[in-house]
Amino acid sequence: MCYYKNKITLRATFSLCCALSKTKGMDIKMKKFLSIVLIFLMVLSLASCAQTPTEQNEKTEQESLFNPGTYKAEVYGNNDYIEVEVKVDESKILSVDVTKNSETKFIGDKAIELIPKQVVEYQTLSVDTISGATVTSASLKSAISDCIKQAGADPSKLNAEIPPIGEKKTEVTKKEADVIVIGAGGAGLSAAATAAEKGAKVIVIEKMPLIGGNTARCASAYNTSDSERQSALPMTDTLKEAVEKAIATEPVNDEHEQLISDVKSKYDEYLASGVTTLFDCPEWHALQTYYGGDYVGDVKVIRSYAENTLPTLNWLIELGSPVTDKVSQGAGALWQRTHQFDAPAGTGLVEPLYNRCVELGVEIITEMKGESLYTDDSGRVVAVNATDQFGSPYEFTGLKGIVIATGGFSNNKELRAKYNPALTPDMVSTNQPGATGDGIVMATEIGAGTTGMEYIQVYPLATPGTGTLQGRARKVSGLDNVIDVNKEGKRFVNEDARRDDFVAAIKQQTDGMCYDINDSKIVEEKNSFNENVETLVKLGRIYKGDTLSDLEKQLGMQAGSLEQTVAEYNEMVENKLDPVFGRKLFADKIEVGPFYATPRAPSIHHTMGGLAIDPQAHVLDVDGQIIPGLYAAGEVAGGIHGSNRLGGNATADVTTFGRIAGNSVVNDK
Ligand code: ADP
Repeated sequence: MCYYKNKITLRATFSLCCALSKTKGMDIKMKKFLSIVLIFLMVLSLASCAQTPTEQNEKTEQESLFNPGTYKAEVYGNNDYIEVEVKVDESKILSVDVTKNSETKFIGDKAIELIPKQVVEYQTLSVDTISGATVTSASLKSAISDCIKQAGADPSKLNAEIPPIGEKKTEVTKKEADVIVIGAGGAGLSAAATAAEKGAKVIVIEKMPLIGGNTARCASAYNTSDSERQSALPMTDTLKEAVEKAIATEPVNDEHEQLISDVKSKYDEYLASGVTTLFDCPEWHALQTYYGGDYVGDVKVIRSYAENTLPTLNWLIELGSPVTDKVSQGAGALWQRTHQFDAPAGTGLVEPLYNRCVELGVEIITEMKGESLYTDDSGRVVAVNATDQFGSPYEFTGLKGIVIATGGFSNNKELRAKYNPALTPDMVSTNQPGATGDGIVMATEIGAGTTGMEYIQVYPLATPGTGTLQGRARKVSGLDNVIDVNKEGKRFVNEDARRDDFVAAIKQQTDGMCYDINDSKIVEEKNSFNENVETLVKLGRIYKGDTLSDLEKQLGMQAGSLEQTVAEYNEMVENKLDPVFGRKLFADKIEVGPFYATPRAPSIHHTMGGLAIDPQAHVLDVDGQIIPGLYAAGEVAGGIHGSNRLGGNATADVTTFGRIAGNSVVNDK
């Protein structure tokens, strides 16, 4: 545009000067003066163009950057479609609103809050992905980018860098509280809330931008004996046989002998009472946990766990955890004591705990990574050295003690391969990226002992490819009404098997995968991860057929194969007997269409070993002595699950031991 303006200005000036020179009757001095004025004006005009060429260009480009309007786009996030609305004028993005989302609270929140804000503030699509919320971040950016395209602009050009929001400091920032908790997952929040309830000043440091850890991502299956809620479940002969076989087992040590004897007296009492509903008690839960883990766990620690799961569940309910009345048997749970939180993923646990912490004034600092523990001359752990997201150093002193609640190490590929070389780096995991075993490294550096580090659980029924827990058709965790079949439409395992046996059986099937098969009785609009089941069907993640033969066709199975398997299963439900695989669960037949098939495959899930602790959550050194001032709770600690964790024992463990640690750290002298 300036090019034409300059040309016109030059021509006009030249013509006016010519006309002036030809003008008769004008004083020569006046002609000269007017010519100088004209030339001066021309120079000014040219200069106005010449001085700001880029500004002019930019302005012009900006003026026509977008077609003004409001644009909408939706992209599938973690649980459902995320809908975004972007408003632009000719030169600016005026607003970005997330108008619909079903992302999991605590996981998706930060991305939903920060990404739209930064896009508008910095007029760029080059915003950082929120660590731990990668899928939500990517989906949001993709939806915004789609809107920008609809507005007629090229999203790749909106790539300005966001200026750094802070910088690394060299001096150490010191903070102090009665209790310092490292890690804001289920165990850390339980420990913090418990200590704060006892009047302690508590600081929680969390290395990720998000709180909740794996607990926020779990299927919220919680095992506890609970006579009230279990009263709807019948005691069958097969179940009686299981108890009788267990108490007839030869004890391997004194604690085991005592535990068997305690279960026996409770069972005798139960039989004498004439009750016909399911037998259960903390001792039986403890014995099954010990057997399920192949006698590797520590009976004292297991008993402390099992005795406290119901009081912890009741505490969680008081805090607002929405626990349903239905008790089932989760995958690998071995008994019908799996409770379910009626909230997406693990939010039914994390949200009430977080709210309680906030209410009690617990300070939760995210993006603060615990790096090492500091001991005083007496060997007492007194502080945690940490760094913030810029690498600035911090020192957190815990006057009463430090609770390590950093979770497991399923996402530390080197560490998991060191202890279990079969777990190669290519294997997927259900875990969040922060599950890297930092607490174990920190504590062992100051002499803590570990136990069972080689026992790493692979979850049998995760999403093939991504390894996430999500994507199932059914609402509850329990497998009471589900069968699993291979690609040939045949059952290959007793679905109530231990998780390790289940995984081993799946690995032998075609393509190392299987399908959960269930009917519509246990399907609701949303599953327990807040995913819309119909959307999952549309996306091809779940198969749905009005009839079993329809499902066979969709899955490429031989005609009649699945029909026959389901008919056989339904007969087993009638007879309460599985003659082939020995399944013990026969809740309901699979008979009411539509029928659902969900592809499932194993994924690395839970590190069962960890720091050695005693029943009060004190961390023990390599000689089994208490390390003063140091406590551990949750997946970071070992000694409970042995070589194989019962499904549904983890959320109960992290909250129960979080609560035990929170009590111990305040009560210890
Ligand atoms: P648990 O179920 O045992 O509570 P989670 O995985 O739910 O375990 O929570 C553990 C939390 O600890 C996660 O949020 C994780 O990011 C956090 N964490 C792990 N390592 C560190 C560390 N070095 N400093 C602070 N937080 C950490």
